[in-house]
Amino acid sequence: MTVRGPARAAFLALAGALALAACQPAAKAPKPGNVTAERLTAAEPGQWMSYGRTYDEQRFSPLDKITPANVGQLGLAWHADFDTDRGQQATPIVVDGTLYTTTAWSKVFAFDAKTGAPKWTYDPKVDGNTGFKACCDVVNRGVAVWNGKVFVGALDGRLIALDAATGKEVWSKVTVDQSKPYTITGAPRVIKGRVIIGNGGAEYGVRGYVSAYDAETGDLVWRFYTTPNPDGQPDNAASDKIFAEKAGATWFDGAWKKSGGGGTVWDAMAYDPALNTLYVGVGNGSPWNHRVRSGGKGDNLFLSSILALDPDTGAYKWHYQTTPGETWDYTATQHIMLADLTIDGQPRKVLMQAPKNGFFYVIDRTDGKLISAKPYIPISWAKGVDMATGRPIEVPEARFAKKPALVMPAPFGGHNWHPMAFNAKEGLVYIPAMAIPSAYGNVAKFGYRDGTWNTGTDFLLAALPNDEAQRNAMKSMLKGMLIAWDPVKQEARWTVEHPYFWNAGILSTAGGLVFQGAAEGKFRAYDAATGKELWSTETTNGVIAPPSTYEIDGEQYIALMVGYGGAAPLAAAAFLPDRPRLPGRLLVFKLGGKATAPAYDIPPKQPIDLAGVTSKGDAKAGFAAYMDNCQVCHGANASGAYLPDLRRSAIVKDEASFKSVVLEGSLAQNGMVSFAKYLSPKQVEDVRAYLLTEAKRQQALDQAAAATPGAAKAGR
Ligand code: CA
Repeated sequence: MTVRGPARAAFLALAGALALAACQPAAKAPKPGNVTAERLTAAEPGQWMSYGRTYDEQRFSPLDKITPANVGQLGLAWHADFDTDRGQQATPIVVDGTLYTTTAWSKVFAFDAKTGAPKWTYDPKVDGNTGFKACCDVVNRGVAVWNGKVFVGALDGRLIALDAATGKEVWSKVTVDQSKPYTITGAPRVIKGRVIIGNGGAEYGVRGYVSAYDAETGDLVWRFYTTPNPDGQPDNAASDKIFAEKAGATWFDGAWKKSGGGGTVWDAMAYDPALNTLYVGVGNGSPWNHRVRSGGKGDNLFLSSILALDPDTGAYKWHYQTTPGETWDYTATQHIMLADLTIDGQPRKVLMQAPKNGFFYVIDRTDGKLISAKPYIPISWAKGVDMATGRPIEVPEARFAKKPALVMPAPFGGHNWHPMAFNAKEGLVYIPAMAIPSAYGNVAKFGYRDGTWNTGTDFLLAALPNDEAQRNAMKSMLKGMLIAWDPVKQEARWTVEHPYFWNAGILSTAGGLVFQGAAEGKFRAYDAATGKELWSTETTNGVIAPPSTYEIDGEQYIALMVGYGGAAPLAAAAFLPDRPRLPGRLLVFKLGGKATAPAYDIPPKQPIDLAGVTSKGDAKAGFAAYMDNCQVCHGANASGAYLPDLRRSAIVKDEASFKSVVLEGSLAQNGMVSFAKYLSPKQVEDVRAYLLTEAKRQQALDQAAAATPGAAKAGR
């Protein structure tokens, strides 16, 4: 055999390697996805092995190669494009040189974290009509990796284990009653070989719980319910004891017996190995309205609570309820972060949370006792927290008992799912905060509707003024912010205001930087001490996800999923940037990165021709039916452009086409299921008549804008 040229060099190298291999033990390649309790607790600096990087969920990386002095040299190292244009919320997980991420519709991807070379993909093939069950977009916040496996919670309620090397399914378990409107969007965590997973669905009507599954076999180990069993029977679950002793007595007659009460565990978890305690955040009530849900009586444990559980058995340890008798969609599912702080000269093991209700809580995580609570945004529902009882000092009118009330914050919360980050050196928690009010009022008569939204509140109050100037005035009142919060002093050290209220997740690094994207598409780095903007890049897509960071061969990388979406772009588009829905993308940056990503193909907005289009429907009745049934996905007053813009959709031009979608479910695979259960054929035509008035209004605004060159784009 003759081997020449480059092939000869390769041959010799191979021959040499074989000769070496013959006389030396082979260097063992690391097992893909080799995450263990020891490694997670050691918090290896170059890795990002779990959702919040470490069990304390601080989202702080000890990497310091990227600094305020050189961050200006940050450039793209590589990128990947995805096949879905819905919201992207995942935290990229990096273990031993492989990056694992998820996209909307719960798809999983593995890449070489240095080069971006794809390794494998996994599509759980979630049925498109599951999209209807997702209050807040068909998002997924990422995977957990443990002992050679990758775990993902699929939107339809499955928990799936994949082989970390190949992406092949190892096991799959259905964790919910799929006949009910349950979804999973949150990232699993793995503690002592058990995969912990919750679910969502409290806007519709489900009973919340958190479960632990054996990572190797997929067997259910324990389950803890957050609301009582409507049947009045024990569940044979870890929660039985505390409900019998204490929590069950905090619920009274009401719609929770049909809706399950809510309390879904859809996001936050943290773990303290030394205390062997798992902390989970519990969601809002179902229905929202406390009077409808529980006759206006009782605290309704464990809604809006932080729960401390034994991760081995699921046994209750303690709880802290942030909003007793929750009635405003004030979940406590927001990011839970553990840290050791010095308070009044004493070292304290604390748990910190900035839940939707607007208070920043510092809690002793050994026993659940409140250390301090102060509002991190302006709030109107409470005057403070009583330190003796730990309960909020409520403003009675905010409960909208006799008349509607304008309340701060709105159901979007002072802070939503967007992760915070911590910097121990600066002593700061970085909060993606929002200041938005909302009007709450009672429904005239509550009728539980199986499978759809059941809040027990008056959705007509979300109606927008028809006057464009008034809409713009409202828009300018809504604020999104990055707040650097001192948890010891309970005050902001600095605040950066964003152009729009809908926020993005945060990364903090030992290099003294804070990274955050934005709804309007920028990705920025700030000085951790001062908030000074030091670097930014234009993603040309909306950003809501948090970045992560890792190191390979001495270089530090910053990874970010881009792709606009989530709750607010669906329901509150009138107050957000006017942006098209674009395919998701993973951007990975490093110092001196020179890669480029192709420009997005942005389709122009198509005006619809309404000449001769009429409807015999009642537009006024259609407006009421629209606000009750359609606005959470298509926006108040049809202002949503995220899920098809109904003011520009050709479907509204034709009675038969509209009925085929709304009554017959012809677009069910996109998540637009049949509304035949909720709307009569007459009501559907009324809705179409109403939508035609909005289409005409928009057409007039578009024409006026076109006739005024250089004028700001009117009408959202
Ligand atoms: Ca909610």
